[in-house]
Amino acid sequence: MAVKPLLLIALLALPLPARSARNLDIFFVDVEGGQATLLVTPSGESLLVDTGWPGFNDRDAGRIAAVAAKAGVKQIDYLIITHFHTDHVGGIEQLAAKMPIRHLVDHGSTVERGANAEKLYKSYEGVAAKGKRITVKPGDKLPLKGLQVEILTSNGDITTRPGKPNPLCAGVPHKAEDRSENARSVGTLVTYGKFRFLDMGDLTWNKELELVCPENRIGKVDVYLTTHHGLDASGPAALVHAIAPRVAIMNNGETKGGVPAAWRVVRSSPGLLDLWQLHYSAAGAGDANTGEKMIANPKGEDSGNYIEVQAQSNGKFTVTNSRNGFSKSY
Ligand SMILES: [Zn+2]
Ligand SMILES: [Zn+2]
Repeated sequence: MAVKPLLLIALLALPLPARSARNLDIFFVDVEGGQATLLVTPSGESLLVDTGWPGFNDRDAGRIAAVAAKAGVKQIDYLIITHFHTDHVGGIEQLAAKMPIRHLVDHGSTVERGANAEKLYKSYEGVAAKGKRITVKPGDKLPLKGLQVEILTSNGDITTRPGKPNPLCAGVPHKAEDRSENARSVGTLVTYGKFRFLDMGDLTWNKELELVCPENRIGKVDVYLTTHHGLDASGPAALVHAIAPRVAIMNNGETKGGVPAAWRVVRSSPGLLDLWQLHYSAAGAGDANTGEKMIANPKGEDSGNYIEVQAQSNGKFTVTNSRNGFSKSY
């Protein structure tokens, strides 16, 4: 049947699909200093890491759902909750009200006590009861098609995968023991062909050092989501410089994370081509912020612009700032 000219014009005028089916897409959703990272695999499966904050009229769940819609994702196939803090798991009920969540991945029960900690954990259990809950340990892999999703850390345990000696470990001081949920964070390494992406939630200093000292068990990565929002309780140079990311993305808020000490460790990492930020950092002010074009949300109130990475299996990838369309290929 011949297509009528008017219909043809209408079809041509449609915007192109937001994503190519052959790419791994990673959307770094702005949840104002929390975390929500949505991965959409080449076969169309979805993996979300964390759900941002609760409240604010469903702000964070709404931002995640909007990005999911843009990527053509109607459900979350796997949700990793890195740990049970408000800025990571707080938005889970609001998100579950917007879209089905099939598998829920966690490190086990919360280790924190008190009304807020218990409320957060209960809300997680409530949503998990409607899907399939998977408590992971290091070495586990999530069965997504076409890529490898490997758990490196969980519940304070560290992977035993072999690594290479790390010369940056000498003389690195430890910090006071962290008994909070942060140190229990589920850390994940995603490998798509030659492309490698690292997300370790809010893992803190001593656990990070265990992962790379004396042997670097992670290897090198292409894209690194700065651990713990770019706070200096995390992100020792012995780790960041050893994994030598080509591009780092900082999930800071305007007034949370993105502190100059952590920012400088990332910025000075050997081989780093660019540091992108979800937000302008007030703490970084004039001398510890990246270029304006690579900041998704500049100073002041914002509309939740995101950063998108489109990765190919040959290791090449493109980063785009949704605010201004600025994009760069690596
Ligand atoms: Zn956090
Ligand atoms: Zn945390």
